[in-house]
Amino acid sequence: RAGLVAVIGRPNVGKSTLVNRMVGYKVSIVSPKAQTTRHRILGIDTGEAGQIVFVDTPGLHAEGKRAINRYMNRAARGALADVELGALVIEAGQWREADEAAFATLEKTGLPRVLIINKVDRIRDKTELLPFIAKVSEGRGFAAVFPVSAEKGAGLDDLRRGLLDLL
Ligand code: GDP
Ligand code: MG
Repeated sequence: RAGLVAVIGRPNVGKSTLVNRMVGYKVSIVSPKAQTTRHRILGIDTGEAGQIVFVDTPGLHAEGKRAINRYMNRAARGALADVELGALVIEAGQWREADEAAFATLEKTGLPRVLIINKVDRIRDKTELLPFIAKVSEGRGFAAVFPVSAEKGAGLDDLRRGLLDLL
């Protein structure tokens, strides 16, 4: 199995930390310049079970005026040519307007999507996680939800397996 996963989410949810952690040391370092016109490669997770290429699709950062949105949406469609899966990253316990906006953009792409709930280490009472997961995934069509802590390395094996299953 192998494929491209678009990583989307508002600033500071931990996208970079997550991808760096997933990619670990197993990877040939990707040059910061490595990019096609369509996507910027954030990292490549290569293992026995398969390969996950995490990409940033500049066209997915649609925000602001309507004209810009139209342009961005066009750009996003081109950007998504080879992408098979969209991963929305959020912070445990939080669903802000900017998360909703990121979700809306991802939804518009029509890609199969998963939700990655990062920073679960911040939630002391883990029983709070289940109702939160239920609340944020309700009616949003995620193929899977993965609670993780990119910083502590928790849940990342399940995430890798889950993503590969969907690729
Ligand atoms: P990005 O803007 O989405 O790429 O987010 P970054 O990867 O730059 O992370 C933003 C901040 O969140 C940094 O200070 C990270 O150290 C922190 N962070 C990332 N992952 C975790 C996590 O799993 N747990 C905690 N507590 N902090 C995290
Ligand atoms: Mg980042």
